[in-house]
Amino acid sequence: MTVFVPAYDVEAPKCLPACRKIVEVHRRFDVPATFFIVGKMLEANPSEYRELLSDSAFEVASHSYSHKMLRDHPICGPAASTEQVKTEIFKGKALVENVFNRLCLGLRPGCGFVDGLKGAPELLRLVSEAGYRYVSSMLWGPDFSMPAPLNQPFTYSSEGYPNLWEFPGHGWHENVFKISSAKARRILLFPPLYPEMVPSSFVKTPLEEFRFNNRPMIDRAMSEHAMYVSLVWHPWSLNAFDPEMKMLEMTFEYLKKLGVQSMSFSEVLSLISK
Ligand SMILES: [Zn+2]
Repeated sequence: MTVFVPAYDVEAPKCLPACRKIVEVHRRFDVPATFFIVGKMLEANPSEYRELLSDSAFEVASHSYSHKMLRDHPICGPAASTEQVKTEIFKGKALVENVFNRLCLGLRPGCGFVDGLKGAPELLRLVSEAGYRYVSSMLWGPDFSMPAPLNQPFTYSSEGYPNLWEFPGHGWHENVFKISSAKARRILLFPPLYPEMVPSSFVKTPLEEFRFNNRPMIDRAMSEHAMYVSLVWHPWSLNAFDPEMKMLEMTFEYLKKLGVQSMSFSEVLSLISK
Protein backbone atom coordinates (compact mmCIF):
# COMPACT_ATOMS: atom_id res chain seq x y z
CA MET A 1 0.00 0.00 0.00
CA THR A 2 1.52 3.31 -1.09
CA VAL A 3 1.89 6.11 1.46
CA PHE A 4 2.61 9.78 0.91
CA VAL A 5 5.41 11.55 2.79
CA PRO A 6 4.99 15.34 3.01
CA ALA A 7 8.52 16.74 3.42
CA TYR A 8 9.85 20.29 3.51
CA ASP A 9 13.35 21.72 3.12
CA VAL A 10 13.48 24.64 5.57
CA GLU A 11 16.47 26.65 4.48
CA ALA A 12 15.84 30.41 4.34
CA PRO A 13 14.60 33.15 6.70
CA LYS A 14 11.41 33.39 4.61
CA CYS A 15 10.62 29.79 5.55
CA LEU A 16 9.45 30.71 9.07
CA PRO A 17 6.28 32.63 8.10
CA ALA A 18 5.70 30.04 5.37
CA CYS A 19 5.94 27.18 7.86
CA ARG A 20 3.27 28.82 10.01
CA LYS A 21 0.84 28.58 7.07
CA ILE A 22 1.97 25.06 6.19
CA VAL A 23 1.48 23.82 9.75
CA GLU A 24 -2.01 25.28 9.75
CA VAL A 25 -2.93 23.26 6.63
CA HIS A 26 -1.45 20.09 8.14
CA ARG A 27 -3.46 20.55 11.33
CA ARG A 28 -6.66 21.16 9.36
CA PHE A 29 -6.18 17.99 7.31
CA ASP A 30 -4.64 16.03 10.19
CA VAL A 31 -1.59 15.14 8.11
CA PRO A 32 1.91 14.47 9.54
CA ALA A 33 5.12 15.73 7.92
CA THR A 34 8.90 15.76 8.01
CA PHE A 35 10.66 19.12 8.22
CA PHE A 36 14.34 19.06 7.23
CA ILE A 37 15.79 22.22 8.80
CA VAL A 38 19.06 24.00 8.15
CA GLY A 39 20.88 24.40 11.49
CA LYS A 40 21.44 28.12 10.97
CA MET A 41 17.69 28.67 10.74
CA LEU A 42 17.34 27.04 14.16
CA GLU A 43 20.14 29.18 15.58
CA ALA A 44 18.31 32.29 14.38
CA ASN A 45 14.83 31.35 15.66
CA PRO A 46 15.01 28.42 18.09
CA SER A 47 11.94 29.14 20.19
CA GLU A 48 9.77 30.03 17.18
CA TYR A 49 10.55 26.72 15.47
CA ARG A 50 10.23 24.76 18.70
CA GLU A 51 6.79 26.19 19.31
CA LEU A 52 5.70 25.60 15.73
CA LEU A 53 6.96 22.05 15.16
CA SER A 54 6.96 20.33 18.56
CA ASP A 55 3.69 18.54 17.75
CA SER A 56 4.37 14.79 17.69
CA ALA A 57 2.82 14.58 14.20
CA PHE A 58 5.86 16.43 12.89
CA GLU A 59 9.27 14.91 12.50
CA VAL A 60 12.15 17.38 12.58
CA ALA A 61 15.31 16.26 10.79
CA SER A 62 18.41 18.01 9.48
CA HIS A 63 18.91 19.86 6.21
CA SER A 64 22.64 20.22 7.16
CA TYR A 65 24.11 23.08 9.19
CA SER A 66 24.37 25.75 6.51
CA HIS A 67 23.34 24.14 3.22
CA LYS A 68 26.91 23.76 1.93
CA MET A 69 27.44 20.97 -0.59
CA LEU A 70 28.51 17.58 0.78
CA ARG A 71 29.74 16.48 -2.65
CA ASP A 72 30.27 18.14 -6.00
CA HIS A 73 27.07 19.26 -7.67
CA PRO A 74 27.00 20.55 -11.26
CA ILE A 75 24.19 23.04 -10.54
CA CYS A 76 24.61 23.91 -6.86
CA GLY A 77 28.41 24.05 -6.79
CA PRO A 78 31.50 22.15 -5.61
CA ALA A 79 31.79 20.21 -2.34
CA ALA A 80 32.79 22.14 0.80
CA SER A 81 36.08 21.42 2.59
CA THR A 82 36.37 18.25 4.68
CA GLU A 83 36.12 20.24 7.90
CA GLN A 84 33.05 22.11 6.68
CA VAL A 85 31.39 18.88 5.53
CA LYS A 86 31.82 17.52 9.07
CA THR A 87 30.23 20.65 10.49
CA GLU A 88 27.29 20.31 8.08
CA ILE A 89 26.67 16.73 9.16
CA PHE A 90 27.33 16.92 12.93
CA LYS A 91 26.31 20.45 13.88
CA GLY A 92 23.10 20.27 11.84
CA LYS A 93 22.05 17.18 13.81
CA ALA A 94 23.07 18.61 17.19
CA LEU A 95 21.02 21.76 16.62
CA VAL A 96 17.86 19.79 15.86
CA GLU A 97 18.40 17.67 18.97
CA ASN A 98 19.16 20.63 21.24
CA VAL A 99 16.27 22.76 20.05
CA PHE A 100 13.64 20.01 20.02
CA ASN A 101 15.06 17.75 22.71
CA ARG A 102 14.54 14.62 20.61
CA LEU A 103 16.65 12.48 18.33
CA CYS A 104 17.36 13.67 14.82
CA LEU A 105 17.11 10.54 12.68
CA GLY A 106 17.52 11.89 9.20
CA LEU A 107 19.66 14.11 7.01
CA ARG A 108 18.71 15.68 3.71
CA PRO A 109 21.86 17.24 2.25
CA GLY A 110 21.50 20.60 0.46
CA CYS A 111 20.32 20.09 -3.16
CA GLY A 112 20.67 16.30 -3.07
CA PHE A 113 22.34 14.18 -5.75
CA VAL A 114 21.58 11.67 -8.52
CA ASP A 115 23.09 8.68 -6.71
CA GLY A 116 22.51 9.80 -3.14
CA LEU A 117 25.64 8.95 -1.14
CA LYS A 118 26.60 5.95 -3.28
CA GLY A 119 30.29 6.06 -4.09
CA ALA A 120 31.04 8.52 -1.27
CA PRO A 121 32.57 6.28 1.45
CA GLU A 122 33.88 9.17 3.56
CA LEU A 123 30.44 10.81 3.66
CA LEU A 124 28.79 7.51 4.55
CA ARG A 125 31.31 7.05 7.35
CA LEU A 126 30.62 10.51 8.78
CA VAL A 127 26.85 10.19 8.49
CA SER A 128 26.94 6.83 10.21
CA GLU A 129 29.33 8.06 12.91
CA ALA A 130 27.01 11.02 13.58
CA GLY A 131 24.25 8.50 14.30
CA TYR A 132 21.78 9.22 11.51
CA ARG A 133 19.40 6.37 10.69
CA TYR A 134 18.58 7.62 7.21
CA VAL A 135 19.56 10.11 4.55
CA SER A 136 17.28 11.56 1.92
CA SER A 137 19.92 12.45 -0.61
CA MET A 138 18.80 10.85 -3.88
CA LEU A 139 16.78 13.71 -5.35
CA TRP A 140 17.58 13.99 -9.07
CA GLY A 141 17.01 12.19 -12.34
CA PRO A 142 19.82 10.91 -14.62
CA ASP A 143 22.55 13.51 -15.32
CA PHE A 144 21.03 15.91 -12.76
CA SER A 145 17.76 16.18 -14.65
CA MET A 146 14.24 16.66 -13.32
CA PRO A 147 11.83 15.23 -12.42
CA ALA A 148 13.47 12.75 -10.04
CA PRO A 149 12.22 9.20 -10.70
CA LEU A 150 10.25 7.09 -8.29
CA ASN A 151 13.31 5.48 -6.64
CA GLN A 152 12.39 3.41 -3.61
CA PRO A 153 14.12 3.10 -0.23
CA PHE A 154 17.25 1.01 0.15
CA THR A 155 20.09 0.57 2.65
CA TYR A 156 23.74 1.30 2.02
CA SER A 157 24.58 -2.30 2.91
CA SER A 158 26.63 -2.82 -0.27
CA GLU A 159 28.88 0.01 0.96
CA GLY A 160 29.12 -1.41 4.48
CA TYR A 161 26.20 0.36 6.20
CA PRO A 162 23.28 -2.08 6.41
CA ASN A 163 21.51 0.06 9.04
CA LEU A 164 21.64 3.32 7.11
CA TRP A 165 18.62 3.91 4.88
CA GLU A 166 18.25 6.07 1.81
CA PHE A 167 14.82 7.63 1.34
CA PRO A 168 14.80 9.17 -2.16
CA GLY A 169 12.69 12.22 -3.03
CA HIS A 170 10.54 12.31 -6.16
CA GLY A 171 9.35 14.57 -8.93
CA TRP A 172 10.30 18.21 -9.46
CA HIS A 173 11.97 20.27 -6.79
CA GLU A 174 8.97 22.57 -6.94
CA ASN A 175 11.04 25.78 -6.87
CA VAL A 176 12.79 24.77 -10.08
CA PHE A 177 9.79 24.70 -12.38
CA LYS A 178 8.19 27.94 -11.22
CA ILE A 179 8.65 31.26 -12.90
CA SER A 180 10.08 32.71 -9.68
CA SER A 181 13.31 30.77 -10.14
CA ALA A 182 14.17 30.57 -13.81
CA LYS A 183 17.87 29.89 -13.33
CA ALA A 184 17.91 26.13 -13.94
CA ARG A 185 17.39 25.95 -17.68
CA ARG A 186 19.22 22.79 -18.76
CA ILE A 187 17.29 20.54 -16.47
CA LEU A 188 15.38 18.28 -18.85
CA LEU A 189 16.36 14.87 -20.04
CA PHE A 190 15.76 13.76 -23.62
CA PRO A 191 13.88 11.56 -24.05
CA PRO A 192 12.08 12.39 -20.80
CA LEU A 193 11.49 9.62 -18.26
CA TYR A 194 8.03 10.94 -17.44
CA PRO A 195 6.77 13.01 -20.41
CA GLU A 196 3.47 13.74 -18.66
CA MET A 197 5.47 15.73 -16.11
CA VAL A 198 7.10 18.12 -18.56
CA PRO A 199 5.15 21.38 -18.92
CA SER A 200 5.74 23.56 -21.98
CA SER A 201 6.86 26.48 -19.82
CA PHE A 202 7.31 27.39 -16.14
CA VAL A 203 4.16 26.57 -14.19
CA LYS A 204 2.08 29.60 -13.32
CA THR A 205 -0.64 28.43 -10.95
CA PRO A 206 -1.01 26.03 -8.01
CA LEU A 207 -3.34 23.94 -10.18
CA GLU A 208 -0.66 23.59 -12.88
CA GLU A 209 1.83 22.60 -10.22
CA PHE A 210 -0.56 19.94 -8.99
CA ARG A 211 -1.22 18.68 -12.55
CA PHE A 212 2.41 18.49 -13.65
CA ASN A 213 4.03 17.25 -10.46
CA ASN A 214 1.88 16.05 -7.58
CA ARG A 215 -0.91 14.18 -9.33
CA PRO A 216 1.19 12.30 -11.92
CA MET A 217 3.76 11.32 -9.29
CA ILE A 218 1.10 10.08 -6.87
CA ASP A 219 -0.73 8.23 -9.67
CA ARG A 220 2.50 6.59 -10.81
CA ALA A 221 3.38 5.53 -7.27
CA MET A 222 -0.06 3.95 -6.88
CA SER A 223 0.10 2.11 -10.20
CA GLU A 224 3.64 0.84 -9.50
CA HIS A 225 2.69 -0.13 -5.93
CA ALA A 226 5.57 1.97 -4.60
CA MET A 227 6.02 1.89 -0.86
CA TYR A 228 5.95 5.67 -0.66
CA VAL A 229 6.04 8.82 -2.75
CA SER A 230 7.48 12.12 -1.52
CA LEU A 231 7.85 15.47 -3.27
CA VAL A 232 10.60 18.00 -2.62
CA TRP A 233 8.94 21.11 -1.17
CA HIS A 234 10.47 24.40 -0.01
CA PRO A 235 8.40 26.58 2.33
CA TRP A 236 9.86 29.89 1.04
CA SER A 237 9.01 28.94 -2.54
CA LEU A 238 5.54 27.57 -1.76
CA ASN A 239 4.62 30.78 0.04
CA ALA A 240 6.01 33.08 -2.67
CA PHE A 241 4.15 31.23 -5.44
CA ASP A 242 0.98 30.23 -3.63
CA PRO A 243 0.46 32.28 -0.44
CA GLU A 244 -2.89 30.60 0.23
CA MET A 245 -1.29 27.13 0.10
CA LYS A 246 -3.88 25.94 -2.45
CA MET A 247 -1.49 23.33 -3.83
CA LEU A 248 -1.22 21.69 -0.43
CA GLU A 249 -4.98 21.67 -0.04
CA MET A 250 -5.43 20.14 -3.50
CA THR A 251 -2.85 17.49 -2.74
CA PHE A 252 -4.29 16.51 0.63
CA GLU A 253 -7.83 16.44 -0.83
CA TYR A 254 -6.61 14.21 -3.65
CA LEU A 255 -4.85 11.82 -1.26
CA LYS A 256 -7.99 11.66 0.86
CA LYS A 257 -10.07 10.83 -2.21
CA LEU A 258 -7.66 8.03 -3.14
CA GLY A 259 -7.50 6.76 0.44
CA VAL A 260 -3.73 7.27 0.57
CA GLN A 261 -2.35 7.63 4.08
CA SER A 262 0.37 10.18 4.86
CA MET A 263 3.30 9.69 7.21
CA SER A 264 6.64 11.22 8.12
CA PHE A 265 9.95 9.65 7.11
CA SER A 266 10.51 8.56 10.73
CA GLU A 267 7.24 6.60 10.54
CA VAL A 268 8.35 5.04 7.24
CA LEU A 269 11.63 4.13 8.95
CA SER A 270 9.92 2.36 11.80
CA LEU A 271 7.69 0.46 9.35
CA ILE A 272 10.49 -0.57 7.05
CA SER A 273 13.16 -1.44 9.62
CA LYS A 274 10.94 -3.77 11.63
ZN1 LIG B 1 17.80 22.92 0.35
